[in-house]
Amino acid sequence: MSPIILSMSSSAFLRRFCWVAVSAAALILVLSSFVTFKLYERYVVGLAESNAVNIANSIVSVHQEQLSDALSPPLLPPQLLSLDEMIKAFMGPYGIVKVKLFSLDGTVIYSNDMSIIGKNALGNKHLEVALNGGESSVIQTKNQIRDLAHQDRFDVDVVESYVPMRNPQGEVIGVFEIYQDMTLFREEVNQGVLYFLAELGVILISVIFATFWFMRKAAVTMVMQQKELGRLATIDTVTNLYNRAEITRRMESEWQRYQRNQADKRTFSLMMLDLDHFKSINDKYGHQVGDELLNQVSARILSEVRSYSDIGRYGGEEFIVLLPETSMSELVKVSDRVLRLVAETPYSVLGHQINITVSIGIATSSQFDARLDAVIKRVDDNLYKAKAAGRNCVAGAA
Ligand code: GH3
Ligand code: MG
Ligand code: MG
Repeated sequence: MSPIILSMSSSAFLRRFCWVAVSAAALILVLSSFVTFKLYERYVVGLAESNAVNIANSIVSVHQEQLSDALSPPLLPPQLLSLDEMIKAFMGPYGIVKVKLFSLDGTVIYSNDMSIIGKNALGNKHLEVALNGGESSVIQTKNQIRDLAHQDRFDVDVVESYVPMRNPQGEVIGVFEIYQDMTLFREEVNQGVLYFLAELGVILISVIFATFWFMRKAAVTMVMQQKELGRLATIDTVTNLYNRAEITRRMESEWQRYQRNQADKRTFSLMMLDLDHFKSINDKYGHQVGDELLNQVSARILSEVRSYSDIGRYGGEEFIVLLPETSMSELVKVSDRVLRLVAETPYSVLGHQINITVSIGIATSSQFDARLDAVIKRVDDNLYKAKAAGRNCVAGAA
């Protein structure tokens, strides 16, 4: 079987499908990476915040008195130093990089970065949430930060959590701001997101590939069916010649070309053939033999004329041959050859040896033919002349 070439429209359709599928996959990947990343980020911030709340509550419960004193100014330098020592000793092991303690008016009472002590941060919305008794956190990337051990760290992802500090009665008396280094965690998250995207990408590519494969298969089947339908619409199944509609269409289009180029003295020739006494063959051997004989006679005529003409089944056992650019003298020669070929040797049909002859009418167009019908009428008349002349002969030679 010859390989199937997909028609332009099928290929264009498949190409368009690929574009749409690949664009959709890219969009899905971008959106999923964004959403996954945001979800992980929320998870990281939530985790850090609950950690910060635990640390703040622990330090308050252990060092309640010292912290309460610190929040009731004035804070003397020796008190500040001992507070600094206590906070660093308590929070250092938790991986905290920076701590601030705010009073109720938003002033920094303590920070391990001593230069900001005394500054006011009122207006910071996270601080205000904590002053009103809630917790609030935000994730940020810092180019450089100095940790509790006075070590400089670079490109760190920190989660800043604002946690209210309460007295034993549960009233808010100050706010802790705790910075936690989440860089390592963030790297793990990035890796997790990357793995997820790679997996999703592989799944999407597989789905697109499988869909493409099935669609291409369906398109190939459709093209084959279309070809078969096209063949059935133009070919007569008993004789394998063009059917009446197709040979008529071809005669008309050749006639148009002939009309346009009359100045070139082109010719337009027709040959009409009718098998002699075919009814008696059907009557003697049956229709099945008749069909097979029709098929064999058609093949013989086709073998003679196929290189320069179109041939179609015009009626039951009647054929028409269209011979463009064929002069009357050539037409006579061809029709004589066909006449002899048909009758030359008997046909072997389903165990029977059958002889048959054909009668042929021929005609060439003239300048007086205004329409194709005129030439068809003449070739038809000539066929009847051949029949009247005793059959197995050609009529119509000029
Ligand atoms: P003539 O020499 O005058 O043409 O005689 P004929 O018997 O060939 O002509 P007639 O028009 O009397 O009969 C034609 C026959 O062709 C009649 C019909 O049974 C047969 N025929 C037409 N189409 C088919 C076909 O598809 N298969 C078969 N088996 N027979 C067909
Ligand atoms: Mg006949
Ligand atoms: Mg007939």
